[in-house]
Amino acid sequence: MLFKIKKAFNATKPIEFPWVFNVTKCAAEQAFTNLGSAFKRFFNGQSKYPKFKKKGQHDSFYLSNDQFKVAGNRFRIPKLGWIILTETLLFSGKILSATVSRTADKWFVSISVQMETTPIKVSKKQADAVGVDLGVSRLATLSNGKTVEGRKPLKKLSRRLARLQRHLAKCTKGSKRYNRQKMKIARLPTRISCIRHDGLHKLTHHLCQGFKVVCLEDLNVNGMLKNHKLAKAIGFYEFKRQIEYKATLFGNWISIVSKWFPSSKTCSNCGHKKEELKLSERIYRCDSCYFEIDRDLNAAINIEREGICLLA
Ligand SMILES: [Zn+2]
Repeated sequence: MLFKIKKAFNATKPIEFPWVFNVTKCAAEQAFTNLGSAFKRFFNGQSKYPKFKKKGQHDSFYLSNDQFKVAGNRFRIPKLGWIILTETLLFSGKILSATVSRTADKWFVSISVQMETTPIKVSKKQADAVGVDLGVSRLATLSNGKTVEGRKPLKKLSRRLARLQRHLAKCTKGSKRYNRQKMKIARLPTRISCIRHDGLHKLTHHLCQGFKVVCLEDLNVNGMLKNHKLAKAIGFYEFKRQIEYKATLFGNWISIVSKWFPSSKTCSNCGHKKEELKLSERIYRCDSCYFEIDRDLNAAINIEREGICLLA
């Protein structure tokens, strides 16, 4: 069947898709294999009917390692030639494949490299354990008292977004100006997500490099989705994903504390548990020992202790 689809495509492409001749024929190659396996999964009842892919939406293509070259900060795609990359390849090993993709008007290439699994060297100063309390306004509070502020690009960027959308409304749909304006708008969410990801990567890198054991609290993601705290829920997923894959690189232990553990309500000094703690109470004041501490720091300390207990 794969062969038949390919043949049909080749017959019709000069008329229907003349633009495919502008790019390397390798770009379309993997699409047939993907379509073949998508149909296979459909007929086996494993997934739904394959969706159409359209030029301009989720643009990406796959290249096998004989179809491209990497040299320093240069990347060679057949027919297109050498392209300058913004950074050189960080990992050395056997290059398996590459995927070129577009987000807004920026093109990315992700290169898959087969490495030997030797853990990355960590500094000798690595501390034993840390508890992490993730927050909304503050990205994270660590049990050693360190805080990591999240960057707040949203306010400035959302004002810019509103301005661009007003401009767009005045442009004729489909005109050059309209398309240019639309691309400017498409860039903004990418910019925001890049800033967010950058902050998370710095945090997870710092945690995995600096501590042998990282203790986290499992978040009630479903609850948060109902609560409209979507940004935090997504942030937590990404945080967990990053810390888990980095832990395998750095050789850390990750201890995840249950979402039912009362990390905020418990006093980190005497262990007394409050019945109620309002979200507005930023300082934890213990009714039993009169200890006072920053609310998030109190939670981070409790998370660290509980996380260590779980490992023992
Ligand atoms: Zn107390």
